[in-house]
Amino acid sequence: MPTEARVCAYSAVMMGSPILLKLFDHDETLARQVFQLIKQQENLLTVNRSPSEIMNINQAAGQHAVVVSQPVFELIQIACQVSQLPDSCFNLAIGPLVKRWKIGFQGDHVPPAAELQARLALTDPRDIELDAAARSVFLRKAGMEIDLGAIAKGYIADCVQAFLRQQQVGSALINLGGNVQTVGAPPDEPQGWAIGLKTPFAGLDALIGVINVVNKSVVTSGVYERYFKVDGHYYHHILDPKTGYPLDNELLSVTIISDRSIDGDIYTTLLYGMGVEQGMRYLAAHPDIEAIFVTRDKQVICSSQRQFCFTLLDDSYHQPE
Ligand code: ADP
Ligand code: MG
Ligand code: MG
Repeated sequence: MPTEARVCAYSAVMMGSPILLKLFDHDETLARQVFQLIKQQENLLTVNRSPSEIMNINQAAGQHAVVVSQPVFELIQIACQVSQLPDSCFNLAIGPLVKRWKIGFQGDHVPPAAELQARLALTDPRDIELDAAARSVFLRKAGMEIDLGAIAKGYIADCVQAFLRQQQVGSALINLGGNVQTVGAPPDEPQGWAIGLKTPFAGLDALIGVINVVNKSVVTSGVYERYFKVDGHYYHHILDPKTGYPLDNELLSVTIISDRSIDGDIYTTLLYGMGVEQGMRYLAAHPDIEAIFVTRDKQVICSSQRQFCFTLLDDSYHQPE
């Protein structure tokens, strides 16, 4: 008779976030390999520590092109394409503004408007020159900075999923500080993984509801994840590339359910910028991506639920009919 599979959780702090890996049956070696893979990818992509391939590009801004590894080049290519979609709120060249606001880091504060204006001039994604043959990246203006913070965790979560599948793991979950990617379902739980959707600005364990998925990524971006408060106003970490200030609309969080976590990471930012109405129209035309919007007036709005199942737990929130 088969013995019952036991869930084993392994945790670490990486990329400034808590990381959780769930496997069935103890496998310390596999867990260590997963954390090494995450570390290795983080070291290529970080903008908070030198050396990284991204830091090398940023430090050469206005001077010369920098050759990078194939995966990093491809990731920058994707981020450039998304940044240049019409009305895109996603902008990989947002670095000079992120660094100025320091949201989520020590010394965060509201910068003078004139400084934000000056830095906006350094955030045009069309000033990023990509040369696929040379695998090189050139930032045309001195002071420009690429920031992959809105896409890196999704990309890395997909790398972890691919690695686990390659190792013949049939059931696992990786949570990179809000980017969840899954393999299969937990043994004997056909309804899949139960992933909590946090209640904004509440205790760590407070949940609006639970999302059940099998073999899917669940990514949430919320204004309550990294922010600071001045005179009753919340300043959070997703910036509006048009104004240089945090995106300000009716939303508290956007969750994306998709196959690939990189898409989840990209679309949380894109749909954040669109808001509920435009976002729902967009989702209707893109059936492979599904979403849950949480609004300031306590509505939880789900797109179609073909790839997930949502259960509301907090009765102070409402789901429109
Ligand atoms: P997290 O997973 O940390 O909650 P997101 O995936 O929502 O974050 O990405 C937020 C991060 O992306 C910010 O911390 C910053 O580094 C970067 N960023 C902020 N605004 C934008 C933007 N408009 N486009 C692309 N990246 C952004
Ligand atoms: Mg993210
Ligand atoms: Mg993101």
